[in-house]
Amino acid sequence: MTISAESSTVEVAASSNFIRNIVQEDLASGKHSTIVTRFPPEPNGYLHIGHAKSICLNFGLARDFGGCCHLRFDDTNPAKEEKEYIDSIKGSVKWLGFDWGEHLYHASDYFEQLYLWAEGLIRQGNAYVDDLTAEEMRAYRGTLTEPGKESPFRDRSVEENLELFHRMRSGEFPDGSRVLRARIDMASPNMNLRDPVMYRIVHEPHPHTGATWCVYPMYDYAHGQSDSIEGVTHSICTLEFEDHRPLYDWFLDRIGAYHPRQYEFARLNLTYTVMSKRKLLQLVREGDVTGWDDPRMPTLDGLRRRGYTPQSIRNFCEQIGVGRNDSWIEMSILEESVRADLNVAAPRAMAVLRPLRLIVENYPEELAEEFTAPNHPQRPELGERSIPFCRELYIEQDDFQEIPVKGFKRLSPGSEVRLRYAFIIRCSGVEKDASGVITAVRCSYDRDTQAGGPEAGRKVKGVIHWVSARHGVPAQVRLYDRLITVPNPAGDEWKSLLNPDSVELLPDAVIEPALASAQPEERFQFERQGYFCADLRESTPGRPVFNRTVTLRDSRAK
Ligand code: ATP
Ligand code: MG
Repeated sequence: MTISAESSTVEVAASSNFIRNIVQEDLASGKHSTIVTRFPPEPNGYLHIGHAKSICLNFGLARDFGGCCHLRFDDTNPAKEEKEYIDSIKGSVKWLGFDWGEHLYHASDYFEQLYLWAEGLIRQGNAYVDDLTAEEMRAYRGTLTEPGKESPFRDRSVEENLELFHRMRSGEFPDGSRVLRARIDMASPNMNLRDPVMYRIVHEPHPHTGATWCVYPMYDYAHGQSDSIEGVTHSICTLEFEDHRPLYDWFLDRIGAYHPRQYEFARLNLTYTVMSKRKLLQLVREGDVTGWDDPRMPTLDGLRRRGYTPQSIRNFCEQIGVGRNDSWIEMSILEESVRADLNVAAPRAMAVLRPLRLIVENYPEELAEEFTAPNHPQRPELGERSIPFCRELYIEQDDFQEIPVKGFKRLSPGSEVRLRYAFIIRCSGVEKDASGVITAVRCSYDRDTQAGGPEAGRKVKGVIHWVSARHGVPAQVRLYDRLITVPNPAGDEWKSLLNPDSVELLPDAVIEPALASAQPEERFQFERQGYFCADLRESTPGRPVFNRTVTLRDSRAK
């Protein structure tokens, strides 16, 4: 009963996507005969749902227009980058259902070329080695309203600059002692053009180039040229890079290299969570979550463990569209997307999360029988399973009320309910321990009310799920809630807005026997309780651990 992305059937109508329109026009007009896009992560953290938007956009365009999409690691900062991140990023892109084929690249593959281009810029008088300290550079930079000040090292000769830059490369100087800067305009209203740093000294091994380099290009010096080297036709990035585009163009003009055209789109913000890798890393480091793949995290590995299907995430990205206005997307839209997918795909099962013993007084002690239930109400091809029944069952604690509130339709003394797929029962009383806590509910059953029986059609108000106490299998179940208590956490106070009840452990759950052999990542609908996924890391057949992916309905919707 394993559910793969391919078995899911929900497809979502495409929303507006202005970049798709541009690509279509470029192909129609013959500006490009084929397109090249890329997804360019910095390997300094795990991918999150925001990255999924970019992945679906870039890989989706290449897929739909017969082009190709590169996976390129923009790995310019060895201090923050690790192999663990590289591996998880590749895994996440594949899991989402995309394939870069042979087109796996690293900005660090281009370090030699970038270095040669930097020498060229020095020769043109367009770059210089600066000895100002980081603090001085900040002070010289000016503000949005005041121009910056030129560095006293700005007018070094080409020869001196070349010599110093070579010595930077050969490792003669300590970290932070010198940088290479572009010589542009300290008075530019665009701060990115105020002589931005191109190279810094970092004596640290790099996950891809090892100890080859001790000078590393800044992201802004590497990114545009990497796209140019790869022949990217549509260089797609988020809006915050709009102000960097003039800088990328400045470099490419002076180097004389091919200009990819850059298009910016609005990044995804999702309510009730945080998304920046810096914040996610902080949650991991400070132990607020169990790791990058904690099922509460908005990372792709977290969503995967939570039970999200790749299809549901692709559908979500399709549905929210691609535009240029920054906005927040409701978490409930993401949840609805996985609900729609799992409603079609997930087999049904019964599990009692907070068990209460139910004793069927008139059912013989030694007897046991089996009922047959469809695995999916609308999909007979998913087959059937048998569910054992005996004298002692478990039902949910909250399906019983000793003194029922007005309108309570489930079990209370004297009332009748149907046990799903089995009989109608009538409650005859309760058992309590010395302190008055209910330890069991007693009832009698009516055999005529089973399917096919003379009174099968008799209507009662409530139908509840149950598991045989003798045949049921213990399981650990975890219910999840929002990570953050407010919809739009902003600024630095987000850490104080963490939801203290974002996970609830239910150690005593009991599941029907057919669920006991669940494979990791197998997904089910537990009737009346939501969609659940056997945990990728901790669940094993025979010792199942289930994470609730999402409730059956949006209980918060008005
Ligand atoms: P974060 O801000 O979360 O730390 P980042 O932008 O630093 O992410 P990168 O590794 O540089 O992460 O991102 C790779 C690509 O994913 C970039 O092209 C970036 O524009 C895009 N991206 C990152 N976050 C989002 C988002 N929330 N919505 C859409 N695209 C995003
Ligand atoms: Mg970035």
